[in-house]
Amino acid sequence: MTAPYLSIVIPVYHEEKTLPLLEARLFPALDALHKPYEVIFVNDGSKDGSQAQLEMLFSRHPAQVRVVQLMRNAGQHKAIIAGFSIVRGQVIVTLDCDLQNPPEDIAALVAKIEEGHDIVGGVRANRHDSAWRKLVSRMSNALRERITNMRIKDQGCMLRAYRRDIVDLIVASPEATPFIPEMSWYFAANPAEINVGHEHRAAGTSTYNFYRLLRLNFDLMTSSSLVPLQIFTLVGMALSFASTLLVIYMGFRRIFIGPEAEGVFTLFAILFLLVSVAITGLGLIGEYVGRIYLEVRRRPHYVVKHITEQTEERNAA
Ligand code: UDP
Ligand code: MG
Repeated sequence: MTAPYLSIVIPVYHEEKTLPLLEARLFPALDALHKPYEVIFVNDGSKDGSQAQLEMLFSRHPAQVRVVQLMRNAGQHKAIIAGFSIVRGQVIVTLDCDLQNPPEDIAALVAKIEEGHDIVGGVRANRHDSAWRKLVSRMSNALRERITNMRIKDQGCMLRAYRRDIVDLIVASPEATPFIPEMSWYFAANPAEINVGHEHRAAGTSTYNFYRLLRLNFDLMTSSSLVPLQIFTLVGMALSFASTLLVIYMGFRRIFIGPEAEGVFTLFAILFLLVSVAITGLGLIGEYVGRIYLEVRRRPHYVVKHITEQTEERNAA
């Protein structure tokens, strides 16, 4: 295989229905670029027929396709890193398997990279997702804008292009909870963004339920900033100041008015509020401690079970 110029990395998790549809659009779009390319599919521990589909896809495009099979589900971003670790191209593009990212837009991303940018992010101009997903993204984007210095319009879009050195840096980063848009932005000297299309999922349903999305957002916030902890310290200080005033006021009442039972429930309400703030603080600290735990444990991010690619097949023969 001559060294490809372009490497496409696609994470695959329970996508047996979308893979044939993706194949029908991806390969014509890549052929139209007239540049040598490879497509690396990372099967992120799917339990459906995705692996069989991928093997067939490989047999139809043996010179371009490489299939990385992971031992178990590692999550979208770790799966992409598994793909990143074996890329051969100079320009790397990631996209989702479900055709929400139109493969035809790869051309525009590559053109923008060639203008001299080291990463190019897609911005989903007309996003086709459920209303609550868009709401979560808007909130998460707004919060991230405030607490980090990361300035990207659409952190959730995975149709993105990277120069090889950025991808190598991401692979070399031993983070336990990687979030690729944030990491690539961190390493980039000259990032750019362009509008890309966005479509409804071609088949199946999103694997991100409410809980997974919440986790992803916690990871994003705690991995890119300590501001949540600092905000919490400030809230704690403000509350202790208010509580001190309350204690003084109650103290005076006790002295000048005497014992009184009124306002007991008000005090309970205030107490519950303070206790819940304290518990939230514990949880927040727990988020960071949990991340530290994951980091020091140093487990591998993913375990590769098998790589299907042409050179290997030749050696085996
Ligand atoms: N994906 C993955 N591992 C996972 C979850 C998702 O590799 O644990 C892949 C999935 O196959 C798809 C992409 O990541 O190619 C985006 O997933 P999905 O469409 O479910 O998410 P959404 O588009 O709703 O953000
Ligand atoms: Mg999707």
